[in-house]
Order: sequence, then structure tokens, then C-alpha cells
Amino acid sequence: MAHSVTIAVLRERAAGETRVSATPETVKKLITLGAGVTVEAGAGLAASIGDADYIAAGARIAETGVAQGADIVFAVQGPDIAMLAGANPGAWVVAGHDPFGQRDRVEAYAAAGFEALAMEFMPRITRAQSMDILSSQANLAGYKAVLIAANLYGRAFPMMMTAAGTISAAKAFVMGVGVAGLQAIATARRLGAQVSATDVRSATKEQIQSLGAKPIFVENVAGIEGEGAGGYATEMSPEYQKAQAELVSSHIARQDIVITTALIPGRPAPRLISDAQIATMKPGSVIYDLAVAQGGNVEGSVPDQVVERHGVRIVGFANTPAQLPADASALYSRNLYNFLAAFWDKEHGRPVLDEEIGNAIRLTQGGKVVHERLLV
Ligand code: NAD
Repeated sequence: MAHSVTIAVLRERAAGETRVSATPETVKKLITLGAGVTVEAGAGLAASIGDADYIAAGARIAETGVAQGADIVFAVQGPDIAMLAGANPGAWVVAGHDPFGQRDRVEAYAAAGFEALAMEFMPRITRAQSMDILSSQANLAGYKAVLIAANLYGRAFPMMMTAAGTISAAKAFVMGVGVAGLQAIATARRLGAQVSATDVRSATKEQIQSLGAKPIFVENVAGIEGEGAGGYATEMSPEYQKAQAELVSSHIARQDIVITTALIPGRPAPRLISDAQIATMKPGSVIYDLAVAQGGNVEGSVPDQVVERHGVRIVGFANTPAQLPADASALYSRNLYNFLAAFWDKEHGRPVLDEEIGNAIRLTQGGKVVHERLLV
């Protein structure tokens, strides 16, 4: 049977990237939709998926030229243009493209006539939740950040009463309560820490309480009431930043573990912790900066390194989801499958996007960069 469309699944090339954009489960489902799937040899190895697993699911394995004849190319990170050699004119390149950081790459997709679709620009609307790679990966990152911090911490998280005496519970503080922060709170609580958390969006206060953690909020200056566009934060006024810094200064000195997750879309991450504040913390404390790759929430944090300042260890992987390759790949792959399945046009045997989601994620089309956020 001739397949309607061919999907190519690339092996990731970026340093430290362990994820893959399709699993045997999603390959099977894509084939059921009516697509043919070609997987690049070794694509799943770092996520514990062998080529034989893909073959058993119905995929073809390609040693070279994986994109040859492809209508749709799947990747985790935006691939180098050379990886797309032989793909059909107008082929979709579906990935987390980092469009602001990888502008040259986006231009190259346009010049080659491909349609690059940035999955991280998926709008935060109910029907797109199952396609939202930022959420699926942030959730796992929030979990792993706490485990990595716990591992570096020279003490235990839970209170323990032993014959040799009592160990007191660790105090953990989560800054930024989006998807990653909520999972960090839940994880630190499960490990037995006393957890507090803060955010600029007042809507998060109740969410913090419902997880059994203590909200720490700037009370005397207005934050973001409810939620802004897409539920995202914006940059805060200098007055708010000053009040927040004072509040954090008094709180942070008593914390053992701090997890920072604050991001502002399209801007560098807000600086939440200064070196002077770190100096007030107890030696042996650990800070995990989940925003380290976006410029960092913590002064002195360096991607993929454990930095010691004033006896406090500051850590942050540039790519935290890649520390959980199997689950991160499983969820990412389902996001991509859910996306294609939602737009699958049975009559034409291929996906057809609507305006709301198409315009939100399409970076290039007809030889040009077309996304409004890239045209300003
Ligand atoms: P994010 O990764 O953009 O930012 C993480 C958190 O940092 C946010 O809560 C943000 O308010 C906070 N932050 C920003 N600046 C800060 C500062 N200076 N100090 C303290 N905190 C700061 O956020 P996210 O995880 O993508 O989630 C944002 C919102 O979107 C949440 O309300 C989430 O529930 C919502 N959401 C909705 C959908 C959907 O409806 N489809 C999907 C995912 C997320």
C-alpha cells in the first residue's frame, strides 16, 4: 500500500540531547493514521529504544538520507539544514526550533522552501494542551531538578527520628510556580521537605496552598492579577522587583534548597537571586536554576556545572528534560502525535492545519519567514 505521507524521525545531533521525537508507540499510531515512518538508525538509543523496536512497530530504518522523500520531519531540536536533504518541497519540519536563538536556521528553512513548525509556540488553549511540549517537558524538569538538588545536598529531606537522634526536615523554596514549579513543589513535598513558593502571578497562591506548601508573596506592591496573555508572566516594575528582592532576602537565608523556574517568553530570564543573597544562605545549601539556559535566575549559575559560592552549590543543566530521556521522549512524542492526529484530514490522507494553531506555530512558508514574532 502506498503511504499518503512519509514522516522522517531524525537522530538528534545537539550535545547532551538524549531525547527522540517518536517512540515505537507513536510510530504505530502514526502508521494507523495512514503515514509511513522512517527512523534514522540509532535515533532512540539514548532513550533506551533500539532500532529493532522501531522496526517491530512498523517503521523503516535509514542509515543515511533519512529525510529522502519525507513530507514531514520530526525532531526534538531544530535540525541543521543538511539533515533535511532530499525532503519534499514544502515539507514540514516539526520541532522545538528555539526561533529567537536559532534565527539563521529558520532563515535556512525558509530559503530551502520548508515549512518549519515551532512546537514551543503552541497556543495555551484547552484543545492544544495535549500538544504542548513546554508543559510536558517542564513537568519532568521540575521533578528532576528537585532530585538532583537532593542528591547534591549533604543532608536528608524528611525529618527522621532515630535512636541516634533527630534529623530535621529540609526547607525548600520554589521560585516561579508554572508547570515546572508546581511539580517541584509536589516532588519536594513527597520527599519530606518543608516547602514554600513564590510567583508574580497571584493566581498561583491557591495552587501553592493546595499542594501543602506556604506561599511567600510581595503584598505591598501589585503583581500580576490573574494571568496575562496565555497565562504567561511579563517583566515586573522596578518597584515590584525591589520589594521582591527584599522579601526573598529575608526568606532565603533560612532555606536549604532553592529551585528557580522563572521565565518570561521571548526575554532573558529574570534575575531572582543575587550573589549577596547567596552569601546569607547556610553552607551546604543547594540552588537548582532551571532557567540557566535562558540567562539564569541565579547570579553565577553556569549551564551543566556545579558552581560553589559562599559554600552554596549552584547547579543547572541547560537541558534538564534530557536527564530523563525515556519519559521525556515518550511525552514529547505523544505531543507530536496528538498534534498530527488532531489535524489529520482523512480525505487527503495528510494533516491540514487550521488558522489559530497554524499561524501560531508556522515560522516559514513559501520561501519566507512568516511568523509575526520574527518579523518585528
Ligand atoms: P513559564 O515557564 O513561562 O514561567 C515559570 C513561572 O515563572 C511562571 O509561573 C511565571 O509566572 C513565573 N515568573 C516569571 N517571572 C517571575 C518573577 N520575576 N518572579 C517569580 N516568578 C516569576 O510558565 P509556564 O510553566 O509555562 O506556565 C505559565 C502559565 O500557563 C501557568 O499558569 C500554566 O498553568 C499555564 N498553562 C496553560 C496551558 C493551557 O491552558 N494549555 C498549558 C500550559 C501552561
